[in-house]
Amino acid sequence: MTPECAAPSLRHARTPLVRWIVGAARRLRTALDDLVLGSTCAGCGTPGSVLCAVCAHHLHDLSGLLTTRVGVAPVVACGPYRGTLRQVIIASKDRGVRSLARPLGALAARHAFRHLPTDGRVLLVPVPSSPAAMRRRGYDHVGELGRVVARRLRARGVRVRLRHRLVRVRSVRDQAGLGRDDRLGNQRGSMRWRGAPPDAPIVIIDDIVTTGATLREACRAVEAAGGRPVLALALAHTALSRPALVLDPARERPA
Ligand SMILES: [Zn+2]
Repeated sequence: MTPECAAPSLRHARTPLVRWIVGAARRLRTALDDLVLGSTCAGCGTPGSVLCAVCAHHLHDLSGLLTTRVGVAPVVACGPYRGTLRQVIIASKDRGVRSLARPLGALAARHAFRHLPTDGRVLLVPVPSSPAAMRRRGYDHVGELGRVVARRLRARGVRVRLRHRLVRVRSVRDQAGLGRDDRLGNQRGSMRWRGAPPDAPIVIIDDIVTTGATLREACRAVEAAGGRPVLALALAHTALSRPALVLDPARERPA
């Protein structure tokens, strides 16, 4: 059983000692991140915590985007890949500031909640990092993001389970600098669903969506296993914003 599977029962069983240990672990993580960043805000560089109040408010105020332009399940992204959001993602992804998974995960959960099916269960499935990216970063940053998103969605009453069921079956080139068609070809056939077939609608999660090639491949692998992708969730979008297609607003629910 993964830690996420055990989370609901642990939450109810938390004693003051367990809460103190969890809080101490969080403080230790933040202290380690302060060492990485030199106690500056990841968004603006202001001395202090890893995310200052101004940047936290900026993230909170992002309006998000829902689009069908990438040709897979509807994609919701929290905001454009620029400014504060970009800086915070880079710090989390490439500079090892792992405590930023909490505010980023909370942000993603808030945007996902508005567009999830209003009843039933969902499986939250992270896009797998390449082995090279895992070695370089030392951890699975999308997986950590997924853990926070699942926890936050459960706190809102969503019946969500985190499942790391997508795996890479071949390596892909670095997507930076590739055009849309090259990205599609680069990703095609690179993922596979492992384990039992999906038993609930699927929400795919990734960090940044550009052409949607990675999300397309993730959805293809899900469908090949008999699953049904209902939403793709990303922290940020790049080329999707020209122009955005907002789906049926009636599907939204208050954040
Ligand atoms: Zn800041």
